[in-house]
Amino acid sequence: MRRFLPLLLIPALAFSYRIETENWQSGKTFTHFLSAHNISLDLYYSLPNQVKRALRTIPTGSRIFLLKDKDSIKQALIPLGGGKQLQIIRKGKKYIAKIIPVKYITKTEKVEVPIENSLSYDLFEKTHTNKVALQIQKIFQHKVDFYKLPRGTRVGVIFKKKTRFGEVKKVEILFATISNRYYTKVAFLNPVDHRYYDQYGRSLKGEMIVSPLSHYKITSPFGMRFHPILHRWRMHEGVDLVSYYGAPVKAVASGVVIFKGRMGGYGRAVKIKHRSGYITLYAHLKGWAHIHRGQRVKAGQVIGYLGNSGLSTGPHLHFGVMKSHRWINPFKFKGKEAKFILAGKAKKRFLSYIHNLLDRYKLACRTKIFNRKKAKN
Ligand SMILES: [Zn+2]
Repeated sequence: MRRFLPLLLIPALAFSYRIETENWQSGKTFTHFLSAHNISLDLYYSLPNQVKRALRTIPTGSRIFLLKDKDSIKQALIPLGGGKQLQIIRKGKKYIAKIIPVKYITKTEKVEVPIENSLSYDLFEKTHTNKVALQIQKIFQHKVDFYKLPRGTRVGVIFKKKTRFGEVKKVEILFATISNRYYTKVAFLNPVDHRYYDQYGRSLKGEMIVSPLSHYKITSPFGMRFHPILHRWRMHEGVDLVSYYGAPVKAVASGVVIFKGRMGGYGRAVKIKHRSGYITLYAHLKGWAHIHRGQRVKAGQVIGYLGNSGLSTGPHLHFGVMKSHRWINPFKFKGKEAKFILAGKAKKRFLSYIHNLLDRYKLACRTKIFNRKKAKN
């Protein structure tokens, strides 16, 4: 008997019915299903066309729940997708069918375990799903080597899980920590922006950085160079990237357009300010995409087209990155841009949220997280 009893089916249990599950096999049709359970095909023909269509595309492996007495079905639940299911109920000698929403149960749980075998094994033992370990691995990827966890490593996790008939459908990690005598790694899901942060409000993962052009060649790197048009030694405050005339130029990270227009020698240009305080410049454009000053753009969004405007010896993109009013080497931009650091009100709100969360779930690791001196990045 399953540990969780389907709520819908509970009232009938008093009469010693039993619950069975069946996996929808490839090639199986709804009419096969009806015949196999001695249900008249009239039931199928009575259904609206939309439901018939949905029944034709039940994914292989879908779980069907059956409530049976002796050998006949009292109730059946068949998933239709889109959060709906078909409920078949025996009424006297006939069967009727209804479309009802799939019911999920959402619960928040905490688990604290020493890792004795492996993260996935030990967490599966406790949570009965592999989803918790998988997500923890994703959250701490590049930060923790899960194949070489030191002896005595402990894992603590608070997670929300969505279940259907005891089967875990979705897991969302609210907090996770991995600690041993060498390190303590911490991740909190910030409900405001859905990113994971450590206990100091520093994001675990960076923002996506994309290349401003899909294909390019670097013709002039960052640094001092003899200017090809001005014929003088000058600081080259960016990199020159060559691609074909009209090639789409993309924002390297999400941000706000703070300049769109002509910029002297840089010709047609765009400047984008990113959340981390960096500003990126895209110059010598042929023209702009449909963007305007003040507009939010996403990483990878096309903002203009490669051209030859301003002081330029041929079609290329001048790409510059500015930090605290100084141009920096764009190749050093990667990774640095990455971190989000909460500050001001956002940080206050985040800190009070995480303290509340740990107080509510009373984790033993709490003191370890907050009593340690601020770790270096
Ligand atoms: Zn340049």
